[in-house]
Amino acid sequence: MSHHWGYGKHNGPEQWHKDFPIANGERQSPVDIHTQAAVHDPTLKPLSLRYEQATSRRIINNGHSFNVEFDDSQDKAVLEGGPLTGTYRLIQFHFHWGSSDEQGSEHTVDKKKYAAELHLVHWNTKYGEFGKAAQQPDGLAVLGIFLKIGDAKPGLQKVVDVLDSIKAKGKSAEFTNFDPRGLLPESLDYWTYPGSLTTPPLLESVTWLVLKEPISVSSEQLSKFCTLNFNAEGEPEHLMVNNWRPTQPLKNRQIKASFK
Ligand SMILES: [Zn+2]
Repeated sequence: MSHHWGYGKHNGPEQWHKDFPIANGERQSPVDIHTQAAVHDPTLKPLSLRYEQATSRRIINNGHSFNVEFDDSQDKAVLEGGPLTGTYRLIQFHFHWGSSDEQGSEHTVDKKKYAAELHLVHWNTKYGEFGKAAQQPDGLAVLGIFLKIGDAKPGLQKVVDVLDSIKAKGKSAEFTNFDPRGLLPESLDYWTYPGSLTTPPLLESVTWLVLKEPISVSSEQLSKFCTLNFNAEGEPEHLMVNNWRPTQPLKNRQIKASFK
């Protein structure tokens, strides 16, 4: 059943196709980014991230990751440009991470796994709401940003500090005035390809924009993610680690690069 999916041995990514046949579809994510095979496309526009008016509302442990949710009732935080046509509104961001610093990202670069990956999820305003957009081939745009271990990322610390209050599945906390611009690297050079959600229902509605430049976070910051629980309060404790889907076949797709 759809509410049973997870990252465990018996309900993990290798089993998802039983309830979600699209898991074996033609445009699944994540993928390995083979940098030599990616084609520089000089017609790709720069990304336009307009996050000045972003209004965060809440942070929630959904049992798979934690989402920082934004007010998407107006064009407050939007993504435009790149390969996109129209305006995409930020609805939430979340991360995927590992059990050690050696793994955790979903996309890989020449098979290299980063320690974690940030996903900023946006929906195409021409569809009116996230739920409808998620069913359309051009409905969603996800900005993927790799995390590597190094210096702390000051812009991440507010997130780290609130995690104690959402340890168990279903817990949420008010989380206002968070500026997602503090999570970006300097360069917005990106790879792009058509793909899918990386969690069930795995819908093939995502234009992926994966930034070339990772952000660095401290080992202490990232280790705090691993204190979260997959389980609800009162259930046996399962630490939230390795909530990433392995790379999927590229099939008939080409990855384009915005840079040489
Ligand atoms: Zn994700």
